[in-house]
Amino acid sequence: MIEVCNQCKKRIGFGREGKCTVCCNAFDQIESLARKILDELEEYEFDTFDAGIRLYGSSKAMQDFLREKFGVEDTLKEHFRSEFIRKLSEISGRKRKIGGDINVIVNLENLSYSIEISPVFIYGRYKKRVRFLSQTRWLCGDCGGKGCERCNYTGRKYLSVEDLIIQPALELFKGKNAFLHGSGREDVDARMLGTGRPFILEIESPKKRKVDLNELETAINENAGGKIEVEFFFYTERRAVEKIKKAAYSKTYRAIISLEGDVDFEKLEKALKKLEEHEISQRTPQRVEHRRADKVRKRKVYSIRLLLKKGRKAVVTIHAESGLYIKELISGDEGRTTPSLSELLGVDCRVEKLDVLSINGGLEDGNLKYNPA
Ligand SMILES: [Zn+2]
Ligand SMILES: [Zn+2]
Repeated sequence: MIEVCNQCKKRIGFGREGKCTVCCNAFDQIESLARKILDELEEYEFDTFDAGIRLYGSSKAMQDFLREKFGVEDTLKEHFRSEFIRKLSEISGRKRKIGGDINVIVNLENLSYSIEISPVFIYGRYKKRVRFLSQTRWLCGDCGGKGCERCNYTGRKYLSVEDLIIQPALELFKGKNAFLHGSGREDVDARMLGTGRPFILEIESPKKRKVDLNELETAINENAGGKIEVEFFFYTERRAVEKIKKAAYSKTYRAIISLEGDVDFEKLEKALKKLEEHEISQRTPQRVEHRRADKVRKRKVYSIRLLLKKGRKAVVTIHAESGLYIKELISGDEGRTTPSLSELLGVDCRVEKLDVLSINGGLEDGNLKYNPA
């Protein structure tokens, strides 16, 4: 006859009471375990938690033994989990929720545990008012981010929107790290104006989860010194990251184009009109080839307006399908984009300056607003 504790006896239905060979008296330690974990979490704000239990080694072997020797399917893991959750909830006054703010994994073998702090996600839009600012961290190629003479000890090739956002955000959330997940990205040398670009800010391991979003906005905008401007809408969930990354919002651009030959206004207008009428076939541009697979994509130009032409310079606005490369639409990228303005005019053209004026879509409908309960 095996020796078991009260709890295990109730569950498996037999055994002599004593030092428990099934759970190693883990049930007796639930309360102290829960208190120890909550102590460790003292500095962390959370409303909800979840817990998982792992069976390894001898406790796992015991389960196999009970099944083989006595035909008992022991539910030790499930039983311990529900008792543990009940105790954590009782002591902390917090609710259990799948994928909660805090996730505790307990190893039933030795009652060791790990605590995972769920990240916080916020939906917002950013405007980028200066050129030569990358969207996400762009490390210096010479020092790999450590800092060297070449990068003026910043560790960066370019300063980024992400750099400007995360520092104030980490201070307010007391997090470990933060990431910007953009809905697409503009070129380093393009500004992002008008509507701004939708993005999700992810804060890893935050001690604070309920920072006032106006306060966050102000902290970031003041710190950015006019380089960027952010607006936050609501707390959201991890699902929003994928949604926003996959979104194919159409975009409106303003481009200053330089023409390498003389072209009159009418001829230019006609050529631009032609770009609206044809589907544009683009091979991956040479300038991004190193990070993207070479393939042909087909995209539409919805409309182009010629705003101004002066000598060999022209200003146009372009409303285009998501994923169209604007610089190559104009230059032709040595025949990799067709038709292109260069091709239609028989004169080399290139984008001198590019601004994104609007990104036509976002998560503002609030479908993915975070609901803590
Ligand atoms: Zn037991
Ligand atoms: Zn460097």
